[in-house]
Amino acid sequence: RPLERDARFYIAGHRGLVGSAIWRALESQGFTNLVGRTSSELDLKNREAVFEFFSTQKPKYVILAAAKVGGILANSSFPVDFLSDNLRIQVNVLDAALAHGVERLLFLGSSCIYPKYADQPIREDSLLTGHLEPTNDAYAIAKIAGIMQVQAIRRQYGLPWISAMPTNLYGPGDNFSPTGSHVLPALIRRYDEAVSSGASQIVNWGSGTPRREFLHVDDMASACLHLLENYDGPEQVNVGTGTDVTIKELADIVAQAVGYEGQTVWDSSKPDGTPRKLLDVSNLSNAGWTASISLEDGIQSTVSWYRSHLADIRS
Ligand code: GDP
Repeated sequence: RPLERDARFYIAGHRGLVGSAIWRALESQGFTNLVGRTSSELDLKNREAVFEFFSTQKPKYVILAAAKVGGILANSSFPVDFLSDNLRIQVNVLDAALAHGVERLLFLGSSCIYPKYADQPIREDSLLTGHLEPTNDAYAIAKIAGIMQVQAIRRQYGLPWISAMPTNLYGPGDNFSPTGSHVLPALIRRYDEAVSSGASQIVNWGSGTPRREFLHVDDMASACLHLLENYDGPEQVNVGTGTDVTIKELADIVAQAVGYEGQTVWDSSKPDGTPRKLLDVSNLSNAGWTASISLEDGIQSTVSWYRSHLADIRS
């Protein structure tokens, strides 16, 4: 069922990587009543403030793209923050949305919810069949609780709320912090800086052999809207491209995109994380959506975005 273009639509986390892409996609699809709040305007960890916001704004649709996120180092260094902040953000938004009559809602998680040794590509029904990857288990448990809350609301109140689990996302607006970021923005920054400084050797983390899948956020945003209009089921839906690369292959694409011609070495004292993470996207393609931005094109345009936003990124 199509969403009404003039209904009030709240995008929680609209300044983030995913939320900002969703905002752009909704605008270009003719939505005219979008609402967003920065974290300084509305602290989603503050339950009273969240309820107050929903009671005055009364959104009809919600996409919950607000979360405390980070790469492998941030997740393993600050597990309590990833667990507690994410649980509070979700519970507050989902409870307030239920109390104030939100009709359709999309909850966003992450592929790290799946067991570390799940069969690859990872199917939705492998959720809770094995142990999590310890470097991000706290974040994963928070997200699993969110999926369960959406399923419970469907069961108890019959609302058509849904959840989507994206693979690794990248694109404009990503976090390029050297210690807090995920691998792709970290590599873009490191390789670009090497080109600027004329360095001839780069050191990346881990062995370079883990395999990961990467989806451009503009594709993710398009998938979110597609699911809200075309999917209504209790099971979370994987969102990805269906193909993966090794971290070494990824580094080569980045080197090519920025024009780095030096050497790359690998620091095995840094964690590799899970050996492979590729989502099975059959449910998403059965729902009628497939990714359209290639990794090479997506990285090239992200490098351009990064280079034209260097001043904001480093500040
Ligand atoms: P993960 O997908 O949850 O494991 O998180 P990351 O995106 O942080 O890491 C993916 C893989 O990239 C891991 O094997 C890292 O060791 C590797 N990697 C290589 N260089 C870097 C880097 O500079 N930053 C990050 N975050 N990961 C890196």
